[in-house]
This record gives sequence, C-alpha cells and structure tokens, in this order.
Amino acid sequence: MTSAIGRVPIGRNPPIGRVVVLLGAPGAGKGTQAQILSERLGLAHVATGDLFRAAVRDETPLGLAAKGYMDRGELVPDGVTIEMLLERLAKPDAQAGILLDGFPRNTAQAEVLDKALAEKGGQVDLAPYIEVPEADLVARLGGRWICRAQGHPYHELNKQPAQSGVCDVDGSDLYQRTDDQPATVQARLRQQLGALDLVVDYYRKRAVLTVVDGRKDIGQVTVDLLAAIVPAIGSRG
Ligand code: ADP
Ligand code: ADP
Repeated sequence: MTSAIGRVPIGRNPPIGRVVVLLGAPGAGKGTQAQILSERLGLAHVATGDLFRAAVRDETPLGLAAKGYMDRGELVPDGVTIEMLLERLAKPDAQAGILLDGFPRNTAQAEVLDKALAEKGGQVDLAPYIEVPEADLVARLGGRWICRAQGHPYHELNKQPAQSGVCDVDGSDLYQRTDDQPATVQARLRQQLGALDLVVDYYRKRAVLTVVDGRKDIGQVTVDLLAAIVPAIGSRG
C-alpha cells in the first residue's frame, strides 16, 4: 500500500506520537522557538525550509527542483514538498512526536498532513500561531543570520551569538540567506501571507488553533507557547 501520491509506504509505519504545528509568517520566529521547544518537549523538529536548504546545498534532484522557487520567494510546488515531508515523517525519530515548522503552508498541504497522520493513528494536537505585524517581519528577516550546519537562527540586533559570526550551538559559521534580501522578502510576504491566513482559518475551524503574541521578546514567546502547548499535548497518552 502506498500514499495518495505514491512511493512513500504507509500502513507499515508505527503509530505517531504528539503533533504540534507551529504557524507564522516568514520571520515570525518559528525556527527560533522550534529549536527551544523541540528540546524541552522531546519532539523532533521538522522544518521544511531546512530540508529544502540541505537538498539545495547537496545538489540533489529535489534541491535542483526547489531552488528557483526558493530564490524567487515562492512556495515550492506541493508534489515535491509533500513527498519530502512524508519521507521525513517516516523516519524513526519522528515516531515519538513532531514539532512542524514551515509546513503546512497552504490548505492542500494541511489536508494531506491530516490524512497522513490519521493513517498513523495521529492528529494535529495543537497549531500555535505566532502572530507578528508585517513591518516587524521585514526588520527581522533583513537582520537574520543562520548557521551553515543546522540553520540555527540569529539576529544582528535581537539575538547576537556569543562570538561574532559563529553559531553558539554547533560552532559553524553564520551567513545571510539569499532570500532574506529586501526584494525577495517583499515577494515572499506578498506571496505567502494570503495562504497563511487560510491555514490559520483551517486550524481555527478544527479547534486546535491558539494565537501567541510574537512581538514579545524571544524568552516570553517561549513561555507563552509552553503555556499553550503543555496542557494540549499532555492530555494524550
Ligand atoms: P521562513 O523561515 O522565512 O518562513 P523557510 O526556511 O521555512 O522560510 O522556507 C524557505 C523557503 O522554502 C520558502 O520561501 C519556500 O520557497 C520553501 N518552503 C518551505 N516550506 C515550504 C512548504 N511547506 N511549501 C512550499 N514551499 C516551502
Ligand atoms: P521564522 O522561522 O518564522 O522565519 P526565525 O526564527 O528565523 O523565523 O526568526 C526570524 C528572525 O527574527 C531571526 O533573525 C531571529 O533571531 C529573530 N527573532 C525571532 N524571534 C524574535 C523575537 N521574539 N523578537 C525579536 N526578534 C526575533
């Protein structure tokens, strides 16, 4: 038996644990918070942007297919994106539970996720939406630096590394993403914010949405997210 889009086997997968979907516009703080929360909660951090950037770096067929879209600030087509996500969810570390960062980004992806989780006896337990005004997003993306090895995010004003240009976590060098240049930032926000609104509505209708004020400092956003997530995922066995 295979999934609806073929190739990825289902049915033989063990049941999946808790699933939290972190929602937010580009620059809202998903990656920053996911790094902290995944450790605290024992969930695998699954970030589709990081998976795509690794594929581009390694020049895999997936990376070659995705690169043009990413450079233009557009969403990569659903076919390859969903295939990549389902392959990641089939890995052993995802079975204990996952914290999704950057997926789903449209309602078609949200529907596929629900179906894939249902086949594993799971569901989206909570979808926290980190809400940040558009003007703040531009400033955050323009000042963002990420690490070469694992994509840990920093900011030239808001979150500086202990040693300039070096990742606190893994010691790799920091760089600025090409899609964080001002012209591409505008394109990303223009193209992605509408789809995000629909995804937020999708989870609101399913009663798993919770909105967190992402304008607060990083530590306070973590506190607010934990206050929402811990009761929600603690209630499942
Ligand atoms: P950000 O952190 O700024 O929100 P990401 O690192 O999550 O951006 O994603 C970078 C790029 O990778 C996106 O602009 C898009 O081109 C592609 N991408 C990531 N996730 C998805 C997805 N779920 N669907 C389609 N494209 C995606
Ligand atoms: P996303 O994954 O949603 O695109 P990131 O976690 O990469 O967002 O954060 C975008 C930028 O904003 C990074 O430079 C990060 O250091 C910074 N940042 C994240 N959270 C906050 C916050 N609460 N206040 C100020 N800056 C933040």
